[in-house]
Amino acid sequence: MKRVIILLAGLILLMLSACQITPHQENDTKKIENNLAAVEDHSSIETPSELIDEKGSKKQDHSSIEAPPELTYEKGPKKQDHSSIETPQKLTDVKIPKKQNQWNLLLANGEFPLPEDFRVPALKQLSTGHMVDSRIYEDLQHMLVDAKAAGVSPIICSAYRSVDRQTTLFNQRVAREIDSGKNEENAVAATAMVIAVPGTSEHHTGLAVDIVDINYQLLNEEQENTPAQKWLMVNSYKYGFILRYPKDKVDITGIVYEPWHYRYVGKDVAKAIFERRITLEEYLDAH
Ligand SMILES: [Zn+2]
Repeated sequence: MKRVIILLAGLILLMLSACQITPHQENDTKKIENNLAAVEDHSSIETPSELIDEKGSKKQDHSSIEAPPELTYEKGPKKQDHSSIETPQKLTDVKIPKKQNQWNLLLANGEFPLPEDFRVPALKQLSTGHMVDSRIYEDLQHMLVDAKAAGVSPIICSAYRSVDRQTTLFNQRVAREIDSGKNEENAVAATAMVIAVPGTSEHHTGLAVDIVDINYQLLNEEQENTPAQKWLMVNSYKYGFILRYPKDKVDITGIVYEPWHYRYVGKDVAKAIFERRITLEEYLDAH
């Protein structure tokens, strides 16, 4: 009986730790610190109950397969939907949009926080309860459906996050660091290592999603070895998504390797970025 209880407690702990930063990643974080890179972390964003709901909801898969009842592509500017450009031929023929006013190319990082006039886009709720920019909803659903058809099981564990929410989380963490004996400056610096400074996270845009394998929900480098990530890494571009923080681009993105964070940029741009093995920063620099 005792064993059963211990086993159950272990299982519950495992579930609660889903989508959490791990000691392994924290080590990586420290290594990266020397390179002046920041970490865009999602660990403290999700509540355990959200994750349990996600895992526990048997309806989840079916509901995400259903066609979205109302798509809102029409609401945006006419040029917005690059995914509808029909034949993207060779790379040189792809129409490269200017970075200005391109909603799908909006940059948010430590160097370029969101502009002051940034407005939260129309959001659409996923079956998991997470929200995304309504303009990426359809492509995201297609990607998840096709992944499942290919025999892998990705699930979303984080998506849109408001600046206010991020600020609350950030301040809570700073308070904890101060409680543990740090002065304010050090507390803020330590917090910025594990939680993106409010206004600099791509999750504010509604264009970023964290996707993990249903059988391995930890946010660490091992995520890259899961069947879901192996599929996503070579197929996500077809749906307009890029793996945003590759392993060998830390010096450019300023973010540690995150083999779970996907960013929507539209199909043409995603294809160009995938084929050239570059980052969004490099793409924008070149255009
Ligand atoms: Zn993320």
